[in-house]
Amino acid sequence: MTSPLLDHLISRIRSDGPLTVADYMRTCLLHPDHGYYQTRTVFGADGDFITAPEVSQMFGEILGLWVLDRWAHMGRPSPFTLAEFGPGRGTLMADMVRAIYADPAARDAAQIWLIEAGSRRKAEQADAVNGAHWGTSVADLPAQPTLVIANEFFDALPVHQFIRTGGVWAERMVGVDRDHRLAWHLGPAGATSALIPKSCQSDCVEISPLGRQIMSEISGHIAAYGGAGLFIDYGYASGAGDTLQAVARHGFVEFLSDPGRVDLTAHVDFAALSDAAAHKGLSTYGIADQGAFLMALGIGFRAQSLAKGQPTDKQAQILADLKRLTAPDEMGTLFKVLAVQAPTVPPPPGFEP
Ligand code: SAH
Repeated sequence: MTSPLLDHLISRIRSDGPLTVADYMRTCLLHPDHGYYQTRTVFGADGDFITAPEVSQMFGEILGLWVLDRWAHMGRPSPFTLAEFGPGRGTLMADMVRAIYADPAARDAAQIWLIEAGSRRKAEQADAVNGAHWGTSVADLPAQPTLVIANEFFDALPVHQFIRTGGVWAERMVGVDRDHRLAWHLGPAGATSALIPKSCQSDCVEISPLGRQIMSEISGHIAAYGGAGLFIDYGYASGAGDTLQAVARHGFVEFLSDPGRVDLTAHVDFAALSDAAAHKGLSTYGIADQGAFLMALGIGFRAQSLAKGQPTDKQAQILADLKRLTAPDEMGTLFKVLAVQAPTVPPPPGFEP
């Protein structure tokens, strides 16, 4: 199978040598013309994968209540920024905003920002969310108290992958084989390998310099202007090894297959994100399991009130959605939640003390 992006990748590798996994991911996901997030209808039942906000409105509503609670504990600053990183179709922000705007003072105070790298996603997001502002990085956000939300954002950022053989770290790369196909290749470990923890037990480790950088920028902003952040993703607290995944049409496919037409992710290294926030002086909470977090915030009650008076098939659907978001064998434990806050803000709900 051939495609413009595959041709582009092969000629780049021919002229410059094998690509790091991070380079490969960046190109496949965000190439201006052929990148996965630029071109495709990727989310939802008719796309390649379904995310929590696309499962049910309850997810965004509960996160909206978390935001409202944090805003109250920050002393109800006006104005304040509510920023979402990687907003996809805009569904999560639309559901959050509905819950937040139940408080008229919050409605007047909130300024909505969507931080999005996929330039062609804006039209769909504008349909979902009224009156939003767009940016591509933390630097675009106004200098005022800020609450940040990101769901399945950090897993979309490129990672480097390192393999230890005979006590020496090498870097996993993408090259071209004799049959002109993309193929795995092991090269000398690049400069990013300096970030591998000395205590690393595993012989395979993934590092996302961009993820750390963005978390550090978000945390610096919150430290300077006040606020909090909530980050939900599938990830780990330490040492997960090889977590690279490619998904198309709700199933796993080979990582190097069909570049630009399949979703590429890596599980999120929450310890690295939490360290980046702590380094900027923020308090960190978690990681909690998504299921326990949502239940502690009352998603069960929300499901009950949504189901009340509905026909039985609708009630069954609401119950199935609740289970999908919270059950341990579905999204409940695979997905983790990290909160970071300015140290003056009291501890957030949803986390074990
Ligand atoms: N949060 C949404 C979508 C998750 S998919 C949901 O839960 O449904 C990842 C999102 O991050 C997409 O909107 C993608 O375009 C965006 N994205 C990917 N890399 C990015 C980057 N480097 N900066 C900003 N946004 C990015």
